[in-house]
Amino acid sequence: MDQRAAYDELIRRFQETRFLESIGSVLGWDERTYMPAKGAAHRAEQMALVARLGHESLTNPRLGELLKEVEASPLAKNTESAEAVNIREIRRLYDIAVKVPGALVEEIARTTTRAQGVWQEARKKNDFAAFAPWLDKIVGLKRQEAEAIGYKDSPYDALLDLYEPGAKAAEITRLFADLRKDLVPLVGAIAEAKTKPRGDILNREFAVDRQHLLGQSAAAAIGFDFAAGRLDTTAHPFCTTFGPGDIRLTTRYNPRDFTPGFFGTLHEAGHGLYEQGLDPAHFGTPMGMAVSLGIHESQSRLWENQVGRGRPFWEHFFPRLQQSFPGTLDDVGLNDFVFAINKVERSYIRVEADEVTYNLHIILRFEMEQDLIRGNLKPNDVPRAWNEKFKAFFDLVPANDAHGCLQDIHWSMGGLGYFPTYTLGNLYAAQFMDKAREDLPGLEDDFRRGQFARLKTWLNEKIHRQGHKHRPRDLGLKVTGQPLSHQPLMSYLRKKYGALYGIG
Ligand code: ZN
Repeated sequence: MDQRAAYDELIRRFQETRFLESIGSVLGWDERTYMPAKGAAHRAEQMALVARLGHESLTNPRLGELLKEVEASPLAKNTESAEAVNIREIRRLYDIAVKVPGALVEEIARTTTRAQGVWQEARKKNDFAAFAPWLDKIVGLKRQEAEAIGYKDSPYDALLDLYEPGAKAAEITRLFADLRKDLVPLVGAIAEAKTKPRGDILNREFAVDRQHLLGQSAAAAIGFDFAAGRLDTTAHPFCTTFGPGDIRLTTRYNPRDFTPGFFGTLHEAGHGLYEQGLDPAHFGTPMGMAVSLGIHESQSRLWENQVGRGRPFWEHFFPRLQQSFPGTLDDVGLNDFVFAINKVERSYIRVEADEVTYNLHIILRFEMEQDLIRGNLKPNDVPRAWNEKFKAFFDLVPANDAHGCLQDIHWSMGGLGYFPTYTLGNLYAAQFMDKAREDLPGLEDDFRRGQFARLKTWLNEKIHRQGHKHRPRDLGLKVTGQPLSHQPLMSYLRKKYGALYGIG
């Protein structure tokens, strides 16, 4: 068989697996936005079937034959060519997939779909005991998955690698330890600062329909194309891709709090820009896929925090915000508003945490889920262990599990290994933004005028269009010239919050 024909067949077969995955995305989006509660059991069966078909299609022995053929061909020689990248990454995904039995894949999909419904109810009723047996089952299934995939040092590595290719728990542990060591004194200094933001500003009446319009216009301003996407509401915001030309953002609104709706939208729009920035010519192949969750999160954090919580952004948007809610913010100045949206406080809920304390929430979860996977922590003991750690990290004890170990959807989704990618995203975002400022002089003046195209284009070229060409770490190094480190994020936080709180 001609090698080019073998490559084309490989791509066609791999794309089929991506089509099946995107069908799963449609089902998953609907499940988390509009599906009525009684649809859950049937939806779980649909999702399990699609997951099994996707797994069967990816583990088809024909893929293995084709891979062998093209790997020995000149197509694989130039390591940065689209062909070589696709061959390398399809090999990686194929090898992982053939190690995991189809029955296990199906069982994980079925269990986690049901468990998400159970988790939602458990959180609502503050009833961890109802969720505990499901968590136990999920941890067991994920351990089986880790054993099937294989690992050198820790079973956690096998799960982490699914989200952040090449990352290792030991390395992240060191990186996070450095970060924690520097964060704790900064959080302490801010807590003791005399200057405080005005607390009442963001908790006034913000009509949800107007929040929606303002959020949509901000997402459009940073470059999200609404002809190729939508914004809907959900309990736990996310962004999902159906295909090129159809990227779904979700957010949640609180009529008495401006922040979750607006910044949730900016955050998900940052993810959406990555997906819209992928090369459509390579859809369904690794060259047209996002490289990792950590890099994905860097894009959302960059727009949400580095840009969206900065003063220049609000020099443009604050008058528009005042107009959107007539009378609501007439007594508020720009400086007061910017300080209020950057309020730092030790608090219980990760998704509502500020930039400074946020990463402590992640480090806590990273430690806990490693213990779960190692078997050092039994699911029944999670609430006790959580509250102990929370006291050590934040000097607070959650009043109930809904504000503690039941707050996040991730474990019910089987997403063990997912949490650290949030902090990796924050670290990468700081490094990317430093580099963008260096490459694009006057960037902040753009923001003051409501112009974001230069930054978006820079991200499109440097990151989005690269697809899977490099490992996430290597991509970071290539874009910024610096290895991944906690320093750029710390410098950014110290400078910004030092000025706001009048410390340092
Ligand atoms: Zn995100």
